[in-house]
Amino acid sequence: MYLSRVDDVVCRGDLSFERFLEIASGILRRGGVDRTVAVGDNGLAVDNVELCAVLKRLGVQHIPVSRGVSEEIYIPLEVLGFFDDINPSRFRVFRDSEELLYRNWPTPLVRLVRASIGGRIIWAKLEGFNPWSMSIKDRIGWYMYRRAVEVFGKSQPSLLVESTSTNTGLAIASMANIHGSRLRAYIPSTVSQTGEALLKIFGVDVVRSSKQLTVELIEDVETVARSEGALHLNQFYNDANFEVHLRYTAKELELQIREAGIVPKAIMGGLGTSGHVSALAFYFKNRFRGVRVYGVVPTQGSTIQGIRRVESGMKWVHHVELDGVIEVTSSEAVEGIIDIVRGDGILVGLSSGAVYAAYKKLVDEDRIDEGNYVLIFPDHGFKYIEQISKYLQMDSR
Ligand code: PLP
Repeated sequence: MYLSRVDDVVCRGDLSFERFLEIASGILRRGGVDRTVAVGDNGLAVDNVELCAVLKRLGVQHIPVSRGVSEEIYIPLEVLGFFDDINPSRFRVFRDSEELLYRNWPTPLVRLVRASIGGRIIWAKLEGFNPWSMSIKDRIGWYMYRRAVEVFGKSQPSLLVESTSTNTGLAIASMANIHGSRLRAYIPSTVSQTGEALLKIFGVDVVRSSKQLTVELIEDVETVARSEGALHLNQFYNDANFEVHLRYTAKELELQIREAGIVPKAIMGGLGTSGHVSALAFYFKNRFRGVRVYGVVPTQGSTIQGIRRVESGMKWVHHVELDGVIEVTSSEAVEGIIDIVRGDGILVGLSSGAVYAAYKKLVDEDRIDEGNYVLIFPDHGFKYIEQISKYLQMDSR
């Protein structure tokens, strides 16, 4: 047995998403692999090809291999370089804008001192610290684009099309701008003027629809992509969305909670495509026993930009186990923002306010006890000044 550099092992063959999850679950639960990948000449995997593919997608640096036949042997994740993906720039010098994105990770995990109540400690993961869209969506814009171009060998696209409620559009626009492509974004009627203006500032051609939800536009966007030969990354079904959170967001959060010396009782986040919450649920439920994961959605009839109801259609949430889905009104989401900025001084976005409001509901209903809680705050609050100000004009807070 020897450890081979990941790029020197070639594993061909298709892998369904279900099979990927099954094998990845075993690796995360065991904290390593228990057999080698058998390789032939030229490093081509001839046995345990699926294991090889999953290890690559989980972002290891080394693959345990043996010649001809596979061997049983336990190799821990650390030895495989599983955590090496998280490699922040120490002095914060970045060679280019893409490096600014992935070598700026981990995004901060900060204890909210004022918002934490009754022996329950909140740790907020601030995704607004991502550089392009100032949101969690930079991760998927970067990864979906890179995987499309590098892994699937697609030529650099001249036109991309995507249905978005702003953030994914900004993230893909940044990748398009960096690589000399263009993005046409299809936005639902519910997107704010600020969102549309931001997309235009990024150089995006914006098409506003009369439909209310991003998912309702997918088919039209796919039709356009086919007729115009454009690249449709499709954040709603592209498994690179789920995988980037497994490979980076979840891994870095594990390193952060280790540094903080805590194991959270629960992790909470908003459901849009369901990419980040599903990946965190999958990862933490395999790696740690007893961590609960909650998703947050708007109540029936409410609009909270970035998140939506499960029945409106989302992929990954149906492949993982959640401990509950909590509903929040748009006013509660704004009140959540105000509580956080007036308590701990951090202006977060609407879906972050919703996540905090959902956490408070669990506290009020006595459904969570003392301990540590991680709340994922997807973006920064500057995009939502219109909505927050309007609320404050009506409410005397
Ligand atoms: N919050 C904001 C502000 C978003 O833009 C999004 C996604 O668009 C989400 C939450 C939901 O994230 P996900 O798509 O990973 O479920």
